Amino acid sequence: MSQNLDAIVIGAGVSGLYSLYKLRELGLSARVFEAGTGIGGTWYWNRYPGARFDSESYTYQYSFSDELLDEWQWSETFAAQPEIERYLHHVADKFDLKRDIELNARVSTVYYDEATKLWEIKTLNGETARARFILCATGLLSAHQFPDYEGVDLFAGMSLHSARWPKEEIDFKGKRVGIIGSGPTAVQIIQSIAPDCEQLTVFQRTANWCTPLRNRPIEAAEQVELREQAHDIFETCKKTFAGFIHDTDERNGEDVPKAERLARYQELYDIGGFALWLGNYNDSFTSRVVADEIAEFLADKIRQRVDDPAMAEKLIPKSHTFGTKRCPGEKNFYETFNRDNVDLVDLRETPISRVTENGIQVGDENHEFDIIIYATGFQSLTGELMRIDIRGEGGLSLQEHWSDGPKTNLGVQFSGFPNMFAIMGPHNPATFCNITRCVENNVDWILGCIRYMQENGYESIVTTPEAEDAWTERCYESVKGLLIEDMRDSWFFGSNNSENVRGRFLLFAGGVPLYREIFADVAAKGYEGFKLS
Ligand code: NAP
Repeated sequence: MSQNLDAIVIGAGVSGLYSLYKLRELGLSARVFEAGTGIGGTWYWNRYPGARFDSESYTYQYSFSDELLDEWQWSETFAAQPEIERYLHHVADKFDLKRDIELNARVSTVYYDEATKLWEIKTLNGETARARFILCATGLLSAHQFPDYEGVDLFAGMSLHSARWPKEEIDFKGKRVGIIGSGPTAVQIIQSIAPDCEQLTVFQRTANWCTPLRNRPIEAAEQVELREQAHDIFETCKKTFAGFIHDTDERNGEDVPKAERLARYQELYDIGGFALWLGNYNDSFTSRVVADEIAEFLADKIRQRVDDPAMAEKLIPKSHTFGTKRCPGEKNFYETFNRDNVDLVDLRETPISRVTENGIQVGDENHEFDIIIYATGFQSLTGELMRIDIRGEGGLSLQEHWSDGPKTNLGVQFSGFPNMFAIMGPHNPATFCNITRCVENNVDWILGCIRYMQENGYESIVTTPEAEDAWTERCYESVKGLLIEDMRDSWFFGSNNSENVRGRFLLFAGGVPLYREIFADVAAKGYEGFKLS
């Protein structure tokens, strides 16, 4: 059955749900097409043990409805995946969103018809739909990635990817488990399952600077306070560099006496979450002296917490300084390596040669497993969009348009693709961002733009190639001078992505407040840099 709509949304995660709500508010007919069998996006797919927020729960929730804020209370400062998934269902039910969401409907093609100026989509389950507007709510870390080791398909035991975790509970008791990866996802899994496994072997290529999460229950009195302060908290988040409650210390660390700096690191370490990363001195992202000192501060913590000095050294990052990658939030992660049933294979010493029928071969040694977990990350930002066959004006595919790296204007539009908007695509500030804060910002801007078009009788908007080139260049410029620029082996630079994307900075590092200002300025100038017709 083909459907004619005003707008099509691809994806029913945090941004897809909010987009549908806002499209309806404008009186537009819209449907969401979602690959999963349930809503939730990231929080639907990543249901692995230990999955939880790295943003404080009360900063991550939607801000747009007071009723919703009245009704929902988070049980922990960093809620776990089941609670987050329940929250998103609560939102979808409360606003009756599900009647316009098609599940199990992976969008495979998105073609622009120049004659009718409509977009047509096809899904793998045979649905088709047409609409004037397309909102890609496909997420920034959705296209999960398996390593390309020989034999990945040969393993006869259970293979699991963190981002395709089954709904059924996995029983690790008595099982020999191997996990590849040591990013934020792997850290959450390792610390959660280690006590259950008979043997857990961690295959680590790059150690990460983890900071304590310090999750705790939110008591009843604090719930009341948080509700009262909700809008103040959202306002604070609008003003901080990353949309979190942690704000940078205005002072440069280099101007502060060393003893004071060290005391400050300890204070931030004790607060937990991203405090040490995002609440640190103004120059912590630019000064190697400060970043290295924080790294050394954390290295000492690792040495104190890990009994075996050789193991501690393996867990201390050597390839990058603090703050240049998003830091995993941990609880007892380092102590996990004091357990007799946990081991670590340093892939920098001996790389994986292949996956075998019964395990993982490193050098000449075959490690036998019942279960292999891949916590190997994503083709970030461009990955999910590139997996869809998207064709704009003149039949130009997005892959062709991005053959020399992604190009966007403000991270929301691509030239030659009229009325198509990306919500969390490349070139937005998602690196550091508290996702829902950025999602609301971006969706509000996009819907503001559509409202402007309605009010002024425009049918089409598309970025000019010049504005697209300028924004793309500005994104590359935005990372210059930051220590992050030197750490290219991360999803910020598309380390898992295709060759034409890899090595390019995929985000805007000018901070959330500046991004908001630019958005407002462009809109105030009648969508400068975009062609309306
Ligand atoms: P990631 O940070 O990209 O980490 C992937 C891990 O897999 C890295 O340790 C990587 O090693 C390793 N890896 C990839 N390919 C490999 C190979 N061929 N052989 C060996 N190791 C390989 O991915 P992620 O941990 O899924 O996290 C991605 C992002 O998701 C995070 O930065 C964060 O923003 C978000 N996240 C958030 C939460 C939360 O708390 N809300 C939880 C999880 C994730 P190298 O480093 O050497 O490449």
